[in-house]
Amino acid sequence: MTDQLEIRDLHVNIERKEIVKGVNLTVKKGEVHAIMGPNGSGKSTLAMTLMGHPKYEATQGEVIFKGQNILELEPDERARLGLFLAFQYPLEISGVPLSRFLLQALKARRSEEDGSEGNGKPKMAFGEFRKLLMENLQVLRLDKSFATRYLNEGFSGGEKKRAEILQMLVLKPEIAILDETDSGLDIDSVKIVAEAVNDLRGPDFGCLAITHYQRILNYLEPDHVHVMVDGRIVKSGGPELAHELEAKGYDWILRELGYEMTHQEQEQGQGEVA
Ligand code: ADP
Ligand code: MG
Repeated sequence: MTDQLEIRDLHVNIERKEIVKGVNLTVKKGEVHAIMGPNGSGKSTLAMTLMGHPKYEATQGEVIFKGQNILELEPDERARLGLFLAFQYPLEISGVPLSRFLLQALKARRSEEDGSEGNGKPKMAFGEFRKLLMENLQVLRLDKSFATRYLNEGFSGGEKKRAEILQMLVLKPEIAILDETDSGLDIDSVKIVAEAVNDLRGPDFGCLAITHYQRILNYLEPDHVHVMVDGRIVKSGGPELAHELEAKGYDWILRELGYEMTHQEQEQGQGEVA
């Protein structure tokens, strides 16, 4: 039994349309993988399927983590196993203060480890939680007041993304999937987020960072870079592949593959405002 996340020949439908068309990818702990690709290539579909969003139907293949096919597990079970997803579009949840949300999530995550089965008695004292929260707010340069604000309500785009990373820092997952956490962030925020991920880096942490831009990879320095087009990983390489994409865009790969991109698609694919 290994702790790697192993995606084998994964196919995913949304409303009966096949969007992910046979992805194979293994993320070992200790590694950072980047998935890049044009808009609409199925990156978020892959991420949502890995975490277990009910709208995404895995029709073929399996995803093995800790000796189980996690496609058979509920999202909360996957989270307790050590998986984490930072959403591309985080939802606002009115009435739930960020700190309460994080404490509940942490309790649920830890119940597996200490065998208390979610009976609401975390081993962690509240003071310890508060300290963890305050420290990580500071790491992400978020004001203390965020702890008491309702989850993502009225947060700017960049603040929402940093709140996702705050969850990651508090929950300390073993495999984190970041879906375009860098999109919509200014350069300083990109750095802050990348540094937070880098802090977790080590033998017990693996990361699948989905991004449209090479920029965050300057700070994240992935071990492996993959390009996803039309539901498949069409190219894999080292960090140099990301630089090549930065310099040349995606269309050379598409041309290599025999795809013709319309001008409009190119603009959508490459010109998205960050
Ligand atoms: P990416 O994250 O790479 O930009 P997505 O996974 O979001 O791509 O989308 C892949 C394709 O699936 C797109 O063609 C998109 O229009 C389609 N799609 C995504 N979400 C839905 C949905 N909820 N219903 C129908 N089609 C969807
Ligand atoms: Mg996406």
